[in-house]
Amino acid sequence: MPQSSRVVVVGGGIGGLTAAVALSRAGREVVVLERAPSLEPVGSAISLAPNALRALDVVGVGDEVRSHAARVAEGGMRTTSGRWLARTDATGVAERFGDPLVMLPRATLAGILAARLPAGALRTSCRAVLADPGDGARPARVTTPDGELTAGLVVAADGVHSRARGVLFPAHPGAVYSGFTTWRVMVPVPGAEFVPHETWGPGRLWGTHRIADGRVYAYGAAVTAAGGRAADDERAELLRLFGDWHEPVPSVLAAVRPEDVLRHDVHHVHPALPAYHRGRVALVGDAAHAMPPNLGQGGNQAIEDAVVLAHHAGDLPAYTAARLPRTAALVTKAVRTARLAMLTNRPAAALRNAAITAVSRTGPAFFLRTFDGIADWRPPQDVTPKPE
Ligand SMILES: Cc1cc2nc3c(=O)[nH]c(=O)nc-3n(C[C@H](O)[C@H](O)[C@H](O)COP(=O)(O)OP(=O)(O)OC[C@H]3O[C@@H](n4cnc5c(N)ncnc54)[C@H](O)[C@@H]3O)c2cc1C
Repeated sequence: MPQSSRVVVVGGGIGGLTAAVALSRAGREVVVLERAPSLEPVGSAISLAPNALRALDVVGVGDEVRSHAARVAEGGMRTTSGRWLARTDATGVAERFGDPLVMLPRATLAGILAARLPAGALRTSCRAVLADPGDGARPARVTTPDGELTAGLVVAADGVHSRARGVLFPAHPGAVYSGFTTWRVMVPVPGAEFVPHETWGPGRLWGTHRIADGRVYAYGAAVTAAGGRAADDERAELLRLFGDWHEPVPSVLAAVRPEDVLRHDVHHVHPALPAYHRGRVALVGDAAHAMPPNLGQGGNQAIEDAVVLAHHAGDLPAYTAARLPRTAALVTKAVRTARLAMLTNRPAAALRNAAITAVSRTGPAFFLRTFDGIADWRPPQDVTPKPE
């Protein structure tokens, strides 16, 4: 195979793996370079909305993903004392958008995608550097600890702090701190009975969900300075911040060990990039448009990117045109949602909560409508290979 038809994917996260599977199905030779020794860290889950599930269908893994995922059937929003601000019936999601909202361990999703790659395509413990984006006349070049690779297409899926983004757009300031940090745990919590919820307190939030194997996936977020770490351990920090919130939060924290806790500061790409490609390189996922997690769409958009990129692999300006307006608008929407969720001012938070209660009394349609234009997205179909 000529070297110019090879695709080098930098980053084996959700975006990079989905792009690799999609491009491999489209007949391209793919190499995925992941700097970590293994894919997605255990200890965290991801929610996938109908838009991402449809994209995963196009690359042939949708049903396998659904079979490993828990369907989010009901849920709601609560105050720190446990009062319900709003209850939602997520069966409406499937009725309105054709598929449910689901949740599964990230490692499971990564494993399903990696299993679809040709043998030897994935190289872990391999930090890659974009040396030259290439152009119409010459291939792109990527250096690795094992030598240099040339490529007809480089998929830069190296995450929120993407080095490739800096190479393509050196004048861009990079990702900015969104103002809060997050913690995630995924643990067994024997005997815990709860309705999935997200609880908004002043400058803090907590969510509890269940995944298909019965474990609990929970996350917390708090407004704080960037780069902070707990003085003792992160579980102690969670107890300090959330230990007196309503059940099941204390029960979840009682089941957590310090080593179960993942902590990450949240950053988003601002301002939007002028394009998602340069030369023979396309940016995918957080590298292009990292957003706060408050819409649960960062990974979903990475999956959408991957499928659209496979569709436009020979025409990167068309890829930018298809993806930039949608994802830039979602970054803006996610930032606004995060600001509302993380309000630190108590009177303002009380007003917000009163508004949520009032709106929820009008029925579930209002909340479902906030996903219009997001969850109803439809992928291009022709990355699917022709039947043999
Ligand atoms: C608390 C929290 C909860 C979230 N929940 C959700 C959710 O429920 N649903 C959702 O859709 N999104 C969610 N997101 C967002 C989601 O995690 C990201 O949008 C998604 O992981 C982006 O995927 P990616 O492949 O672009 O980047 P990443 O997942 O960051 O993957 C990038 C990969 O590139 C590798 N890499 C980096 N540099 C190099 C290099 N030089 N060489 C080789 N490899 C390299 C990294 O090791 C990493 O594996 C959440 C985010 C947070 C912080």
